[in-house]
Amino acid sequence: MIELDGAAGEGGGQVLRTALTLSMITGQPFRIKNIRAGRARPGLMRQHLVAVQAAARICHADVADAAVGAQTLLFEPGKICAGDYEFAIGTAGSCTLVLQTVLPALLFADGPSSVKLKGGTHNSMAPPAHFLQRAYGRVLAAMGADIDIRLNRFGFYPAGGGEVVAEVQPCAALRQLDLLQRGARRLGYAESFVAGVPADVARRELACIGQGMGWEEGQLRACVLPAEYGPGNVLLVTLEHEHVTEVFSGFGERAVRAETVAKHTLEHARRYIASGAAVGEWLADQIMLPMALAGGGSFTADKLSQHALTNAQVIARFLPRRFDFESTERMHTVRITSIED
Ligand code: ATP
Repeated sequence: MIELDGAAGEGGGQVLRTALTLSMITGQPFRIKNIRAGRARPGLMRQHLVAVQAAARICHADVADAAVGAQTLLFEPGKICAGDYEFAIGTAGSCTLVLQTVLPALLFADGPSSVKLKGGTHNSMAPPAHFLQRAYGRVLAAMGADIDIRLNRFGFYPAGGGEVVAEVQPCAALRQLDLLQRGARRLGYAESFVAGVPADVARRELACIGQGMGWEEGQLRACVLPAEYGPGNVLLVTLEHEHVTEVFSGFGERAVRAETVAKHTLEHARRYIASGAAVGEWLADQIMLPMALAGGGSFTADKLSQHALTNAQVIARFLPRRFDFESTERMHTVRITSIED
């Protein structure tokens, strides 16, 4: 039994999600206390509870203590089963974080699967659905995974109601990947989606991005979604390179100017561009788990967050992997190796 302390490191929801994924795949049961102790409202929220329920259903796990607000959990996994699954968060909680919990496990199922998730698809503090498709999905594809992610409907905080479907083919083993360089840029573009928010917000955000990146009209796309999806606004800046695609996002909020949303998004994109690293802060923490599953890998990142370091520690509790970190002024290099080597 692996004993985890959810208060360790960053003390957020990722400790639980990583433990669920790796418990499903390795068959090792775990018990966790102090779930999300580092957050203002500790314990399981709807998104985390649905992640537990989804993981449990897919691998026929025995679960004790799962309820909203619970700060402890016992998870004893069974066999991962392919199937057509559907899960609803029931709030605007992030669909994409729940999807990321079960996707790696379904790669090791006994047949193809589809997973439909309903809830938030574009939430601040979570990967937007487009990020999963373009950035995370491309890294997994480079490792040999065959996953198709479809966005059927946008879901924004607080209304939710979004829908994402993933089709997953089983994969005998993930290939190791060294993502040390991004390669030449092939494409750069920005999109602003608005739902129930004036179209002018999209135009203003895109004007700032166009000016900041030196981009032309053709690289700036304003998309007006049905008003009933909203209110909501997401700004996406996509940089497609030879070896990797990055997506930087900003979320419109009441009383926050469109220019401020664009400025923050631009800051992240610029930090990444200036670093010369292959991946940005968020992709860095998300690709550690698949790389560790592949037996090893490496990448360069513009920033290594506490989130990433905590994630590495949790991964190392389930898999015999070593994480080495090396930093220069501009970027960080992460190397994951198998301890059995
Ligand atoms: P809590 O910590 O409150 O439990 P949580 O469970 O929703 O929150 P975190 O543990 O903070 O989430 O994890 C958030 C995840 O979302 C991280 O993997 C991070 O890389 C990813 N993420 C956050 N913002 C972005 C973004 N703008 N683009 C892509 N990924 C993001």
